[in-house]
Amino acid sequence: MKYLDEYRDPKLARLVLDKIFESVSRPWSIMEICGGQTHSLVKNGILEILPKEITMIHGPGCPVCVTPINLIDKAILLAENANVILCSFGDMVRVPGSRKSLLQSKSEGSDIRIVYSPLEAVKLASQNPDKEVVFFAVGFETTAPTNALSVVQAAKMGLANYSILTSHVLVPPALNALLSDPESTIDGVLAAGHVCTVMGFKEYYPIAKKYKTPIVITGFEPVDLLQGILTTIEMLENQRFDVINEYGRVVEKEGNPHAMAIINEAFEVSDRKWRGVGNIDNSGYQLREKYQNYDADLKFAIKMNEVEENAECIAGSIMKGQKKPIDCIHFGKKCNPENPLGAPMVSSEGACAAYYHFSHSLFQNVS
Ligand code: SF4
Repeated sequence: MKYLDEYRDPKLARLVLDKIFESVSRPWSIMEICGGQTHSLVKNGILEILPKEITMIHGPGCPVCVTPINLIDKAILLAENANVILCSFGDMVRVPGSRKSLLQSKSEGSDIRIVYSPLEAVKLASQNPDKEVVFFAVGFETTAPTNALSVVQAAKMGLANYSILTSHVLVPPALNALLSDPESTIDGVLAAGHVCTVMGFKEYYPIAKKYKTPIVITGFEPVDLLQGILTTIEMLENQRFDVINEYGRVVEKEGNPHAMAIINEAFEVSDRKWRGVGNIDNSGYQLREKYQNYDADLKFAIKMNEVEENAECIAGSIMKGQKKPIDCIHFGKKCNPENPLGAPMVSSEGACAAYYHFSHSLFQNVS
């Protein structure tokens, strides 16, 4: 398959890996922002074959993992309302809230539907005029366009029984927060290619300059990731603190103007709390005033108290890059995909799930 197979070619990957070995002269720590990149690094055995000088730090780019626990509780409370159909992406339903997960709530009788697009939820609202349909709108910049579109579409259709429970987060403010942490050990960053496909990467230049940290826009296939690491290492070794796009087959500097226009139509930037990380100024989206009728938070006005995280789970330290999943004493024992103590063990982009599921190497059959 063009644009995919060539980026999975083991011989090409070996060539790039050899260049990494030639280029590195001292220890460097590189953070991959996105949980999809973490999964690809682990699944393809890349962590095991990098030079010992390179440490990959796994960032907070798992949208399900950073959704606050009290918002999950709120979604469950909404789903337990007999007049509500709650729609969610599949990843979200197994994430533990403080009492239970959406999946457990569904098994107890709540009407929770797994959808592949928020537009399916809009359709459900039009087919069920006597019910309130709520979409759990979770994600980074990547899912924001379709979530925004669902609200605009519902407004155009005059649907009064559709709303979204929003937990949208943004990468650049989070990166700023991570790099400004005095305890940060991040030398270079692999930025998430799909986020930049939507938003472009102009916002990264001042961050790279301010923190003297090279940022490389990187894709998700093994050769993409190795190339992203190589370019980061070459910049670090040459003390070059710039932004380079290594996902040029998909990403434009200006992003996707149509996607950004629909985001801007429905959403405005707001402060946002990240599970395990804390509050980050201007790091999320909320619906604009003209679409407030579609805001489930306002429509149902459910007040939630702050909820304590499970003290046994160190997901916050993992998402800040301070610890690895294998540093958690419960990894693979008390915490596993069947009985998760934290979101990173069940999300398809969670670092703990990546470590739990994958361990084989991409290079074992290459001579
Ligand atoms: S292994 Fe489980 S308990 Fe430990 S950090 Fe990961 S999700 Fe939390």
